[in-house]
Amino acid sequence: MKTIGMLGGMSWESTALYYRLANERVRERRGGFHSAPLLLDSVDFAEIEELQRRDDWAAAGELLAERARRLESIGAELLLICTNTMHLVIDRIEDAVGIPVLHIADAVGEAITADGLTRVGLLGTAFTMEQPFYRDRIGAHGIDVLVPDEAERAAVHRIIYDELVQGIVTDASRKVLSGIVGGLVDRGAQGIVLGCTEIELLVTAADSPVPVFPSAALHIHAAVEAALAADA
Ligand code: GLU
Repeated sequence: MKTIGMLGGMSWESTALYYRLANERVRERRGGFHSAPLLLDSVDFAEIEELQRRDDWAAAGELLAERARRLESIGAELLLICTNTMHLVIDRIEDAVGIPVLHIADAVGEAITADGLTRVGLLGTAFTMEQPFYRDRIGAHGIDVLVPDEAERAAVHRIIYDELVQGIVTDASRKVLSGIVGGLVDRGAQGIVLGCTEIELLVTAADSPVPVFPSAALHIHAAVEAALAADA
């Protein structure tokens, strides 16, 4: 099995989930004492968050590219950027390494297509919901992507940064997101993309009348399959 490199810490709340899910998946797939061979480089999220706020994507890309290079140099054979938002700079990271970088939106898009759906709602940071990099990548799988209205997008963004990345999970915010999901379903969404890796710490299938697509879980599952494919 190949060694998975994880660029994490964005935030560590969801990186911890990636780590657990990677190991659980390998145990399921390989049995016995097997666990996931992986290398984790966990950044200081304060640095990334500041660059996001300043709109300095070039510096953020450079920072992550350098860390990706380091992961490759110590043995990572495929790479995950453990956040949806920072896929905004995936080109910079791909240019820096020779190993494959598995795009989180492809893992999500493939799961949606496998379920036979063609229109989904997207929850994520304002960057993910409002800029084209993520919607277009899902769209490339033949899927229409709906986003919440402006006030709702602000609410989702606030819940992510003020609560979820700080480890705060509340019923009140779960209700807010569940209401936003209801609106997207009324507009025709057949499924909901949990397009921020912390949202699946708050929202589950029980909070939605249509299937949910948890990006962190789908991303790590795709990575484990890719890492195992090397043995086939
Ligand atoms: N983890 C989040 C995401 O999946 C948001 C935090 C970040 O900006 O990286 O987009």
